[in-house]
Amino acid sequence: MTKAVCPGSFDPVTNGHLDVIERAARMFDEVTVAVLRNPSKSSRFTLEERKDMIARSVAHLPNVRVDVFDGLLVKYAQQIGAQVVVRGLRAISDFDIEFQMAATNRKLNSEIETVFMMTDTRYAFLSSSLVRELAAFGGDITKMVPEPVLKYFSR
Ligand code: ADP
Repeated sequence: MTKAVCPGSFDPVTNGHLDVIERAARMFDEVTVAVLRNPSKSSRFTLEERKDMIARSVAHLPNVRVDVFDGLLVKYAQQIGAQVVVRGLRAISDFDIEFQMAATNRKLNSEIETVFMMTDTRYAFLSSSLVRELAAFGGDITKMVPEPVLKYFSR
């Protein structure tokens, strides 16, 4: 049984994230989407809101659950019995930091493997920050986020 964890800020979850989660759900027996609790980084949505919107967006995926974590990712992965960390890659600009993080995590725990999924080209330029900015200026984000996320913007 292979368990994977998809960690991130998900502020908010986008169709790019969801695509990676859906693909991971086909590859692994169980997938945990883990929202990082990071008190030093301010966020547009609360931890609870981010968790809720992901849970609603992955309701069609029976082997996916949502959780919150803080501290070291590899420690958390070990705690929940996950052997794999899944990260999405959009452009070369993502590579450097992801390479650093994967190398660091490997040093901390070589039993946990980081797996990268190339973004679907439809989502190559999609990020949570882009969605937040567009929404702030009244732009149309309906094609960028899962449907359940929309109502969190109108609160
Ligand atoms: P973090 O702050 O950890 O980067 P994010 O919520 O921004 O958290 O991203 C979580 C993961 O999803 C990261 O691996 C990121 O590269 C990936 N990701 C973000 N947007 C996309 C996208 N449009 N397509 C594919 N992967 C994405």
